[in-house]
Amino acid sequence: MVEPRSAASAPVTVLLATRNDAKLAELRRLTSSQGLEVVGLDDVPEFPEAPETGATFEENALAKARDAARATGLLAVADDSGLAVDALNGMPGVLSARWSGRSGTRVERDAANLALVLDQMADVPEERRGAAFVCAAAAAQPDGREIVVVERWPGRLIRLPRGTNGFGYDPAFVPEGESRTSAEMAPDEKDAVSHRSRALRALIPRLTELVR
Ligand code: IMP
Repeated sequence: MVEPRSAASAPVTVLLATRNDAKLAELRRLTSSQGLEVVGLDDVPEFPEAPETGATFEENALAKARDAARATGLLAVADDSGLAVDALNGMPGVLSARWSGRSGTRVERDAANLALVLDQMADVPEERRGAAFVCAAAAAQPDGREIVVVERWPGRLIRLPRGTNGFGYDPAFVPEGESRTSAEMAPDEKDAVSHRSRALRALIPRLTELVR
């Protein structure tokens, strides 16, 4: 377990509000030169995690980071992401994870969400199939100081899913400048250019604003 410590002591501990090992590893890689010690929710005492009720990715990321910072006394980082489809006025947006409902396992929900969006897009012609993965990354200190950034990974939706890497809407998303879907890209390749790595890369240099 990690003990809360003052923001002035070094190295600074950053809590990434996730239990996802891949996200932790990614933040560790991105911050390796910054003297930050990155821990996850499994490394700190449990605290109640509020449901994601925000109207925007920024609000959800900030709420997660704020709750984690207040509960643990640590500098906390959180992200929130989803798919914004032009022809659906930016939806599924913050409802991406539960667009087709709440039932089933994560894998079943991912498949049902993808099928529903493709069905909703069935009559939309090629020139209006633009979409973007969006990610907000937020950092919060227990004293209330906070920052949030948002980044997009633009592309378009194809009609027939392709590829088995990734998760969620990856099999139908072709990033700008690519002919493959993000589910056909190698995981490292996707990580290097995705909305999530763009948001974390934008946030990390600004963490110093919060550790002064
Ligand atoms: P979360 O921010 O990890 O909770 O992701 C929210 C939802 O957005 C996921 O359940 C997916 O449906 C979708 N999503 C977010 N990022 C990606 C991605 O990189 N690929 C595919 N789907 C994504």
